[in-house]
Amino acid sequence: MEQAEFLKFKDELTAVGVTLVAVSKTKPEEDILRLYNWGHRDFGENYVQELTSKQEALPKDIHWHFIGHLQRNKVKYIAPFVHLIHGVDSERLLKEINKEAVKNNRAIAVLLQVFIADEETKFGLDRNEVMELTARLNQYSNVKVRGLMGMATFTEDMEQVRKEFQTLKTLFDDCRKTENGKDWDTLSMGMSADYKVAVAEGSTMVRIGTLLFGKRI
Ligand SMILES: *Cc1c(COP(=O)(O)O)cnc(C)c1O
Repeated sequence: MEQAEFLKFKDELTAVGVTLVAVSKTKPEEDILRLYNWGHRDFGENYVQELTSKQEALPKDIHWHFIGHLQRNKVKYIAPFVHLIHGVDSERLLKEINKEAVKNNRAIAVLLQVFIADEETKFGLDRNEVMELTARLNQYSNVKVRGLMGMATFTEDMEQVRKEFQTLKTLFDDCRKTENGKDWDTLSMGMSADYKVAVAEGSTMVRIGTLLFGKRI
Protein backbone atom coordinates (compact mmCIF):
# COMPACT_ATOMS: atom_id res chain seq x y z
CA MET A 1 0.00 0.00 0.00
CA GLU A 2 1.25 3.48 -0.82
CA GLN A 3 1.31 6.29 1.72
CA ALA A 4 -1.90 8.10 0.77
CA GLU A 5 -3.85 4.87 0.57
CA PHE A 6 -2.43 3.68 3.88
CA LEU A 7 -3.26 6.91 5.71
CA LYS A 8 -6.80 6.85 4.37
CA PHE A 9 -7.24 3.21 5.35
CA LYS A 10 -5.96 3.90 8.86
CA ASP A 11 -8.05 7.09 9.25
CA GLU A 12 -11.22 5.23 8.30
CA LEU A 13 -10.53 2.62 10.97
CA THR A 14 -9.61 5.24 13.58
CA ALA A 15 -12.83 7.12 12.84
CA VAL A 16 -14.87 4.10 13.94
CA GLY A 17 -12.74 3.39 17.00
CA VAL A 18 -10.67 0.56 15.52
CA THR A 19 -6.90 0.23 16.09
CA LEU A 20 -4.84 -1.05 13.19
CA VAL A 21 -2.14 -3.61 13.98
CA ALA A 22 0.15 -4.00 10.96
CA VAL A 23 1.13 -7.67 10.80
CA SER A 24 4.76 -7.68 9.68
CA LYS A 25 5.68 -11.35 10.20
CA THR A 26 8.20 -12.61 7.62
CA LYS A 27 8.57 -9.07 6.24
CA PRO A 28 11.88 -7.18 6.34
CA GLU A 29 12.66 -4.30 8.67
CA GLU A 30 12.48 -1.83 5.76
CA ASP A 31 8.78 -2.62 5.36
CA ILE A 32 8.17 -1.80 9.02
CA LEU A 33 10.21 1.40 8.84
CA ARG A 34 8.25 2.58 5.84
CA LEU A 35 4.99 2.52 7.84
CA TYR A 36 6.81 3.82 10.89
CA ASN A 37 7.89 6.87 8.91
CA TRP A 38 4.26 7.43 7.94
CA GLY A 39 3.50 7.65 11.68
CA HIS A 40 2.42 4.09 12.38
CA ARG A 41 3.46 2.46 15.66
CA ASP A 42 1.50 -0.79 16.15
CA PHE A 43 3.03 -3.89 14.60
CA GLY A 44 2.18 -7.57 15.05
CA GLU A 45 4.52 -10.55 14.93
CA ASN A 46 3.97 -14.31 15.27
CA TYR A 47 7.41 -15.73 16.04
CA VAL A 48 9.37 -14.94 19.20
CA GLN A 49 12.81 -14.95 17.65
CA GLU A 50 11.77 -12.80 14.73
CA LEU A 51 10.08 -10.39 17.12
CA THR A 52 13.07 -10.04 19.46
CA SER A 53 15.52 -9.41 16.64
CA LYS A 54 13.26 -6.80 15.04
CA GLN A 55 12.65 -5.18 18.42
CA GLU A 56 16.40 -4.82 18.98
CA ALA A 57 17.01 -3.33 15.56
CA LEU A 58 14.04 -0.97 15.24
CA PRO A 59 12.90 2.22 17.04
CA LYS A 60 12.03 1.72 20.69
CA ASP A 61 8.68 3.49 20.58
CA ILE A 62 7.11 0.77 18.43
CA HIS A 63 4.21 -1.04 20.11
CA TRP A 64 4.88 -4.72 19.51
CA HIS A 65 1.89 -7.03 19.49
CA PHE A 66 2.51 -10.75 19.82
CA ILE A 67 -0.26 -12.42 17.83
CA GLY A 68 1.05 -15.97 17.38
CA HIS A 69 0.86 -19.08 19.50
CA LEU A 70 3.09 -18.41 22.50
CA GLN A 71 4.97 -21.23 24.21
CA ARG A 72 5.46 -20.85 27.92
CA ASN A 73 9.23 -21.27 27.77
CA LYS A 74 9.47 -18.29 25.39
CA VAL A 75 7.51 -15.75 27.42
CA LYS A 76 10.70 -14.51 29.08
CA TYR A 77 12.15 -13.24 25.78
CA ILE A 78 9.31 -10.84 25.04
CA ALA A 79 8.20 -9.97 28.60
CA PRO A 80 10.49 -6.92 28.95
CA PHE A 81 8.95 -4.98 26.07
CA VAL A 82 5.80 -6.56 24.58
CA HIS A 83 2.85 -4.15 24.29
CA LEU A 84 0.00 -6.67 23.99
CA ILE A 85 -0.10 -10.48 23.83
CA HIS A 86 -3.19 -11.45 21.82
CA GLY A 87 -3.16 -15.24 22.07
CA VAL A 88 -3.50 -16.30 25.70
CA ASP A 89 -5.21 -19.67 25.36
CA SER A 90 -4.54 -21.33 28.72
CA GLU A 91 -4.33 -20.46 32.39
CA ARG A 92 -0.83 -21.98 32.51
CA LEU A 93 0.33 -19.48 29.93
CA LEU A 94 -1.36 -16.63 31.80
CA LYS A 95 0.42 -17.72 34.98
CA GLU A 96 3.79 -17.75 33.21
CA ILE A 97 3.19 -14.29 31.75
CA ASN A 98 2.34 -13.05 35.23
CA LYS A 99 5.55 -14.54 36.63
CA GLU A 100 7.70 -12.87 33.95
CA ALA A 101 5.83 -9.59 34.36
CA VAL A 102 6.63 -9.61 38.09
CA LYS A 103 10.31 -10.30 37.32
CA ASN A 104 10.36 -7.37 34.92
CA ASN A 105 8.52 -5.18 37.39
CA ARG A 106 5.80 -4.29 34.90
CA ALA A 107 2.23 -5.13 33.99
CA ILE A 108 1.73 -7.02 30.73
CA ALA A 109 -1.47 -6.48 28.76
CA VAL A 110 -3.04 -9.56 27.20
CA LEU A 111 -6.13 -10.80 25.38
CA LEU A 112 -7.73 -14.18 25.95
CA GLN A 113 -7.92 -16.12 22.71
CA VAL A 114 -11.29 -17.68 22.02
CA PHE A 115 -11.88 -20.59 19.69
CA ILE A 116 -14.69 -19.57 17.34
CA ALA A 117 -13.79 -21.29 14.08
CA ASP A 118 -15.13 -24.43 12.53
CA GLU A 119 -11.59 -25.85 12.25
CA GLU A 120 -9.40 -28.09 14.35
CA THR A 121 -6.20 -26.13 13.80
CA LYS A 122 -6.99 -22.92 15.62
CA PHE A 123 -6.09 -22.42 19.26
CA GLY A 124 -8.28 -20.92 21.93
CA LEU A 125 -10.54 -21.20 24.94
CA ASP A 126 -14.24 -21.99 24.76
CA ARG A 127 -16.99 -19.84 26.25
CA ASN A 128 -17.06 -21.57 29.63
CA GLU A 129 -13.30 -21.50 29.99
CA VAL A 130 -13.27 -17.77 29.28
CA MET A 131 -15.99 -17.04 31.85
CA GLU A 132 -14.31 -19.20 34.50
CA LEU A 133 -10.86 -17.78 33.91
CA THR A 134 -12.21 -14.23 33.91
CA ALA A 135 -13.70 -14.86 37.36
CA ARG A 136 -10.22 -15.82 38.65
CA LEU A 137 -8.22 -12.99 37.12
CA ASN A 138 -7.57 -11.16 40.38
CA GLN A 139 -5.03 -13.88 41.25
CA TYR A 140 -2.72 -12.48 38.61
CA SER A 141 -1.42 -9.16 39.86
CA ASN A 142 0.81 -8.21 36.92
CA VAL A 143 -1.29 -9.36 34.00
CA LYS A 144 -3.81 -6.90 32.68
CA VAL A 145 -6.47 -8.63 30.58
CA ARG A 146 -7.88 -6.08 28.15
CA GLY A 147 -10.35 -8.26 26.27
CA LEU A 148 -10.63 -11.07 23.74
CA MET A 149 -9.15 -12.18 20.44
CA GLY A 150 -10.45 -14.65 17.89
CA MET A 151 -9.91 -15.93 14.38
CA ALA A 152 -12.79 -16.90 12.13
CA THR A 153 -12.82 -19.93 9.88
CA PHE A 154 -10.76 -19.60 6.73
CA THR A 155 -13.65 -19.60 4.25
CA GLU A 156 -15.20 -17.49 1.53
CA ASP A 157 -18.54 -17.83 3.30
CA MET A 158 -18.80 -14.41 4.92
CA GLU A 159 -22.11 -15.27 6.60
CA GLN A 160 -20.37 -18.02 8.55
CA VAL A 161 -17.54 -15.62 9.41
CA ARG A 162 -20.11 -13.04 10.55
CA LYS A 163 -21.79 -15.54 12.87
CA GLU A 164 -18.45 -16.48 14.41
CA PHE A 165 -17.59 -12.84 15.04
CA GLN A 166 -21.03 -12.29 16.56
CA THR A 167 -20.42 -15.19 18.93
CA LEU A 168 -17.15 -13.58 20.02
CA LYS A 169 -18.73 -10.14 20.44
CA THR A 170 -21.52 -11.59 22.59
CA LEU A 171 -18.99 -13.29 24.84
CA PHE A 172 -16.99 -10.04 25.06
CA ASP A 173 -20.12 -8.14 26.14
CA ASP A 174 -21.02 -10.85 28.67
CA CYS A 175 -17.55 -10.70 30.22
CA ARG A 176 -17.78 -6.92 30.43
CA LYS A 177 -20.86 -7.29 32.60
CA THR A 178 -18.76 -9.13 35.20
CA GLU A 179 -16.57 -7.57 37.90
CA ASN A 180 -13.22 -8.55 36.34
CA GLY A 181 -14.25 -7.66 32.82
CA LYS A 182 -15.81 -4.28 33.38
CA ASP A 183 -12.73 -2.33 32.16
CA TRP A 184 -12.13 -4.43 29.05
CA ASP A 185 -11.71 -2.28 25.95
CA THR A 186 -10.23 -4.51 23.26
CA LEU A 187 -11.84 -6.99 20.90
CA SER A 188 -9.18 -8.16 18.43
CA MET A 189 -10.91 -9.65 15.41
CA GLY A 190 -10.46 -9.28 11.67
CA MET A 191 -7.64 -9.91 9.17
CA SER A 192 -7.11 -8.89 5.54
CA ALA A 193 -9.86 -11.11 4.17
CA ASP A 194 -12.54 -10.50 6.80
CA TYR A 195 -11.83 -7.21 8.58
CA LYS A 196 -14.87 -5.43 7.09
CA VAL A 197 -17.20 -8.02 8.58
CA ALA A 198 -15.27 -7.89 11.87
CA VAL A 199 -15.57 -4.10 12.11
CA ALA A 200 -19.29 -4.26 11.33
CA GLU A 201 -19.66 -6.79 14.16
CA GLY A 202 -17.89 -4.69 16.79
CA SER A 203 -14.16 -5.25 16.46
CA THR A 204 -11.94 -2.63 18.13
CA MET A 205 -8.64 -3.95 16.75
CA VAL A 206 -7.83 -5.49 13.38
CA ARG A 207 -4.67 -7.44 12.53
CA ILE A 208 -3.79 -6.81 8.89
CA GLY A 209 -0.78 -8.17 6.99
CA THR A 210 -1.35 -9.07 3.34
CA LEU A 211 -3.39 -6.00 2.53
CA LEU A 212 -0.59 -3.69 3.72
CA PHE A 213 2.58 -5.56 2.79
CA GLY A 214 1.51 -7.90 0.00
CA LYS A 215 1.48 -11.69 0.04
CA ARG A 216 3.86 -13.61 2.29
CA ILE A 217 6.02 -16.29 0.71
C1 LIG B 1 -0.81 -13.65 9.92
C2 LIG B 1 -1.89 -13.26 10.86
C3 LIG B 1 -2.72 -12.15 10.61
C4 LIG B 1 -2.65 -11.34 9.34
O1 LIG B 1 -3.18 -12.06 8.26
P1 LIG B 1 -3.45 -11.37 6.83
O2 LIG B 1 -4.42 -12.30 6.20
O3 LIG B 1 -2.12 -11.34 6.14
O4 LIG B 1 -3.98 -10.03 7.06
C5 LIG B 1 -3.66 -11.80 11.57
N1 LIG B 1 -3.79 -12.49 12.71
C6 LIG B 1 -3.02 -13.57 12.99
C7 LIG B 1 -3.21 -14.28 14.28
C8 LIG B 1 -2.05 -13.99 12.07
O5 LIG B 1 -1.32 -15.07 12.35
